[in-house]
Amino acid sequence: MNWQGQQFGLHHCDAGFGAVLGVNQRNNGMNAEILIVAAGRGTRAGGGTPKQYRDLCGAPVLQHTVRACLAHADISAVRVVIHSDDVALYDSAVSSISDTRLKAPVLGGASRSASVRNGLAACAGTHVLIHDGARPLLRRDDIDALLQRIESHPGVVLAVPVVDALWQSDGTKANAPQARDGLWRAQTPQGFRLKDIRAAHAATDTPMADDVETARAFGIDVEIVQGSDTNIKITRPEDFALAAKLMGQDMDVRTGNGFDVHKFGPGDHVCLNGINIPFDRGLVGHSDADVAMHTLTDAIFGALCEGDIGQWFPPSEPEWKGAASDIFLRKAIERVKARGFTITHLDCTIICEMPKIGPHTKAMRQRLCEITGVDIDRISVKATTTEQLGFAGRGEGIAALGTATLVKS
Ligand code: MG
Repeated sequence: MNWQGQQFGLHHCDAGFGAVLGVNQRNNGMNAEILIVAAGRGTRAGGGTPKQYRDLCGAPVLQHTVRACLAHADISAVRVVIHSDDVALYDSAVSSISDTRLKAPVLGGASRSASVRNGLAACAGTHVLIHDGARPLLRRDDIDALLQRIESHPGVVLAVPVVDALWQSDGTKANAPQARDGLWRAQTPQGFRLKDIRAAHAATDTPMADDVETARAFGIDVEIVQGSDTNIKITRPEDFALAAKLMGQDMDVRTGNGFDVHKFGPGDHVCLNGINIPFDRGLVGHSDADVAMHTLTDAIFGALCEGDIGQWFPPSEPEWKGAASDIFLRKAIERVKARGFTITHLDCTIICEMPKIGPHTKAMRQRLCEITGVDIDRISVKATTTEQLGFAGRGEGIAALGTATLVKS
């Protein structure tokens, strides 16, 4: 086989899932943002770099936290409060995230409360979930439980019941057992109506343990929502190893493949990955016959185990006649998002003798980036011939292979 040969340019794409799909509001008009507080110095976790920027399974802790928050489709915006010394660290930590729901960072203040106040001032939703930057293992299901409860409660907090025996101690001896009945360990997110928690923070300068204490001091009732033991806060050096272990156990990595063929017919161009390439023939098909985009769409449906393009868009239905294939790909992306997955890689191989594909791969990758919201440096398009063998070699049509890698953590 011959490589048709092409050079790739890497370009960042600003189109994100939010921009593609647009809908981040629940039916009742609630508009919930997540405010991530990450302005601390994290000295207890060791290492020279603040803990939220240290590596965890190949990415900074804070990047995992931001991605976990963006994984819920009903979150309309995510903002991070950072220390003024950490601007470059933050930019680097989130540079691979192209979701437009991630808003510009807010600079923190001299205390955690001051940082939260600065962050709340930038928020714009009806509700806000305040979350620790050092809790990267937040589960989508737990965000969902908070969003459901906050519809009918002024305050909500994720917490887990204390199950260990408790002892009063000077650090050497177990001196006196303590009752654990009714004790819960508070986690984050802690969620409130934005106007309520703003008022609560404006009413006090007293240092508080967390936003639940600030809210309660202002008279806001806070309801416990049972969370997950895995939602740990990275605090001590050994917590990195624990978080890495939990992350590995929880990760669902899937690969799907797709294959498609369309034959040549009358026409003056072929459409491949959304790019029209002038040619002396066209491709025959019920839709726009974009054989390349069909394979990527099928690869995504395959990874989700949700059938194939023909089941979602039956050729027997006239409404798909001549349809632009980005409709199909957008449906697959919508399903990825609804199932809580992230696409980490797309790879497409186009198989034909003619037309030449190489000069168009950069435009194809850009178009796929715009449709899917996947970073362009995670999208590959390449081409090959079949050495003039078989139907592709005889110039009877174009085949394509697609592979999609999806991750849910
Ligand atoms: Mg097809």
